Amino acid sequence: MDKKILSSLLAFSFGCGMVYAQTAEIGTWAGFRKGAASFTFDDGAPSHVSDAGPMFKKYGYKATFNVVYNWNPDWNGFQGLANEGHEIASHSNSHGNNMSGEEASSKTNIGGRIKQKYGIITVAYPNCNVPNESAVKQNYIVGRICNGSWKGMNDEMGKDGPSNWAQTPATMTGDEGQLKTTNDFTGRMQKVIQSNGWAAFLTHGFQGKQNGNANYSPTDINAIDGALKWAQQNDKDIWVAPMGFVAMYIKERNASKAEASTSGGNITVKLTHNIKDNISDYDYPLSLRVKYSGSTANVTQAGAKLESKIDGGYVYFDAVPNEGDIVIAGEGGSGPIPESSSSVEIPQTSSSNTPVSSSSRNNPWGQSSSSATNPWGPNPWGPQSSSTTALTAETVDFSAVAVYRTADNYIEVSGAKGMPITVYNHMGQVIRTTRGLGMVQKVFSGAKGKYLVKVGNKTFKVSL
Ligand SMILES: [Zn+2]
Repeated sequence: MDKKILSSLLAFSFGCGMVYAQTAEIGTWAGFRKGAASFTFDDGAPSHVSDAGPMFKKYGYKATFNVVYNWNPDWNGFQGLANEGHEIASHSNSHGNNMSGEEASSKTNIGGRIKQKYGIITVAYPNCNVPNESAVKQNYIVGRICNGSWKGMNDEMGKDGPSNWAQTPATMTGDEGQLKTTNDFTGRMQKVIQSNGWAAFLTHGFQGKQNGNANYSPTDINAIDGALKWAQQNDKDIWVAPMGFVAMYIKERNASKAEASTSGGNITVKLTHNIKDNISDYDYPLSLRVKYSGSTANVTQAGAKLESKIDGGYVYFDAVPNEGDIVIAGEGGSGPIPESSSSVEIPQTSSSNTPVSSSSRNNPWGQSSSSATNPWGPNPWGPQSSSTTALTAETVDFSAVAVYRTADNYIEVSGAKGMPITVYNHMGQVIRTTRGLGMVQKVFSGAKGKYLVKVGNKTFKVSL
C-alpha cells in the first residue's frame, strides 16, 4: 500500500471518529431580529376582545392583556385570545391604589379562569404603583410599571430587559400618554431596532369603543393598526411579542448554554439551562444558528423535526431548552459539508411560489434574509397550488392524520390522537398549540392566509 493512500485512509478514519467543537449562537431576539416590542392592554376592556384581538389577528401578532379579576371581564373572550396565542396576565383582583397583598391571589384567581400554555407570568400594577416586590418575584417573571421616564429610567430597555424585573417599564399611549400616532409607535420601534433593545407599550381602551372600566387615556385604534402594519413590513427587524414571552426569551437566552459538536457527519447541539422554578419551566423557544455549509439540512430535537433555514453559511432554527438533543443532519444522510467548503448555496425564492401578499414579502420567513430564521424553509409553499380546500399530506406514511379546511373556515385535524399539534402563521409564528383528541377537532380559525399545521413531526399546509 502506498504511503499516500495509507495517510488518507488514516485521515478518513480519524475524521469519522472525531468530535469537532462548533459554535451555536442564540439570537438576541427571536428570528435573529434586531429589536423587540410588546403591546400591553390594561383593565380587561370589552374592546380588547372585540377590537384589539381581530386587529392583532390581521397582522399575525400577539399582545398581553392584563385583566382585573373582580371586574369580571369577558372570560370567554379573553380565553379566546389566549387560545390564539395572546398572553393573559394579572392586573390585580380589585384595582386598588396599590395591589400589595393581591400578588399571589390574583394570579391564582385569574389562572383559575384562563388556561394558557405559559400560565399567568406577568403582572401589571394598578395605578403604576409597585406593590410588594418580593411577592411579585415569587409569583411572576415580570412586573410592569408605567412610563420608565416617570421613575427616572429610560422608556426603552436594552437587550437584557429592565434592571429590576419587578419594575419593567411600558410607555403609556393615548390622550394622556406620550404615544398617540402611528409615527409615535414606529419611532419607538425604530429606536429599539437601532439599540437592539425592547420597547413596551401600555394601552387602556380605544377612542369610540366599548371600554368598560378601561376609560383612562383612550388611544386611537388606527394608530396601533398603523404601528402593527409597519411592524409587519419590518418584521425581519422587529419582534412583536407579549411581554411575558419576551421576558422568558431574555431569561432563557441569558441562562442557556448552547453547546454544539460534530460527530459522525452530524452536528449535535445541547441547549440547556437550569432556571426552571415554580413560576415557569422557561420553555419558550429560542432562536439559534450554527455555522453550516451544506445546502440542505434536517434538524430534529429529541427526534421531532424542527423547521429550519439555511442562509449565509448558517442553519437557523428555533428550539426549546431542556427538551433534548438537537441534531442537524445533511439531507440524504450525507451529513453536513465541512465548514471549509467554499460553496455555500443560498436557497432562492422560486418564481413559481404561490403569490404572497406584499406584507408577507417583507417578512423574514419568506425571504433569504440573513437576519432571520425561517421555520417555513426557503420555499414553504412549494410549487404553485390551487386554493382548494383539500390538503395534501406531504408524506404518505402518516395516513391516519388529515388536516383540512372546513366549510365554515376552520382548520380541522383528524386522526391525531395524543399528538402535539402546532399551527404557524405565514410568518412562522406559533399561533396555536394543542394536542390531538382522536377523531376530528377544529384547531384554529383566523385571518385569511396560509398556515402550516404540524401534527407530530409531520407538517401540512392549509389556506383559510
Ligand atoms: Zn388599570
